[in-house]
Amino acid sequence: MPAPYALRAEDSRGRRYAEPRHPYRNDFQRDRDRVVHSRAFRRLENKTQVFTRRHSDHFRNRLTHTIEVAQISRTIAAELRLNEDLVETLALVHDVGHPPFGHAGERALDGMMRRHGDSFNHNLHALRIVEQFEQRYADFPGLNLTFEVREGIVKHSGEHRPSEFPQLSEYLLQLRAPLEAQMIDLTDEIAYSTADLDDGVEAMILTREQIRESVPLFGVMHAEAARLYPDAPEKLQFNEALKRLLDCLVSDLIDNSRKRISDSGVQSVEDVREFPRRLLEFSPGVEEERGRLRDFLHRNLYFSEDLRPEKEQAELVITELFDFFMESREALPPSYQEKLLHEPLYRVVCDYIAGMTDNFVSDQHRRFCAAPRRARLSS
Ligand code: MG
Repeated sequence: MPAPYALRAEDSRGRRYAEPRHPYRNDFQRDRDRVVHSRAFRRLENKTQVFTRRHSDHFRNRLTHTIEVAQISRTIAAELRLNEDLVETLALVHDVGHPPFGHAGERALDGMMRRHGDSFNHNLHALRIVEQFEQRYADFPGLNLTFEVREGIVKHSGEHRPSEFPQLSEYLLQLRAPLEAQMIDLTDEIAYSTADLDDGVEAMILTREQIRESVPLFGVMHAEAARLYPDAPEKLQFNEALKRLLDCLVSDLIDNSRKRISDSGVQSVEDVREFPRRLLEFSPGVEEERGRLRDFLHRNLYFSEDLRPEKEQAELVITELFDFFMESREALPPSYQEKLLHEPLYRVVCDYIAGMTDNFVSDQHRRFCAAPRRARLSS
């Protein structure tokens, strides 16, 4: 039985283009299936999460990360009696707007757009993908997703000021996101922060000992794992600790949110929207631990010297390719040249590069930027 504050598919504000109902899938289930069948979703397999695949086949990529977020989100949604179909759809779509090369790629694209007085944001790009770029259906452009999924794409990582984003006014920016969308930012962080500890060790940038010593909550989990499995190999003790850390974050989010929801007195989705604060949150103690984990990852992994060359190369590839297409619009594919009738060149170039996978952007860079440079150098 869904909770009264869960979004029900029957109450959806509907799609941009009206469609007949499906005989046995509700609208959020259909949205989930449309996301899974989209090209942008398939491209996630070849987009960097934190590490490129050069060093190991075991690192998460954006696709496997997305599946982990969906799994965690469904578990929490079931416990809080939220709409699991909507939560799953929002989790599966949450990263489709990411450009190649992870956050380095996003920073580079944003920097290039700022030169033209614009900006790049992966959530807003995801909205453009599902509204315009996916061309799969004869009846409408994009995926024609329900309002609630599009709203979740816009709002899941935080609030947008209505005055700053007049183009998003239909998404009720003055109101909170429904609980299903509020969850995604938190489950995203649970998934990537635990996974990045794992991948960081696999990449030999972090050591298990360093994590035990620097992340207190992990240290507690590890002590328990070592006590229960004193003879297990270190790697398995580490895995047991990681599993417990994930479980602790998820359980705390469930318990604390359940209490907050109950204390708030919300009885409907409208109440959630009108409530002055987001209702899904970790308890203060775990929130503090989460902050320590985040700081640790920032200091020792995301901004580590080990990853710097990879990130610099990523930024170089994107900025040089951006410059190249700005100078050579005839090199854009015909479908993007058509967009120039309605949009400025820098926006079309940004959209084209943002949609590329890591492999494709590297190929394009070799073809258009690196090869001519070599030719110039050797002449
Ligand atoms: Mg994510």
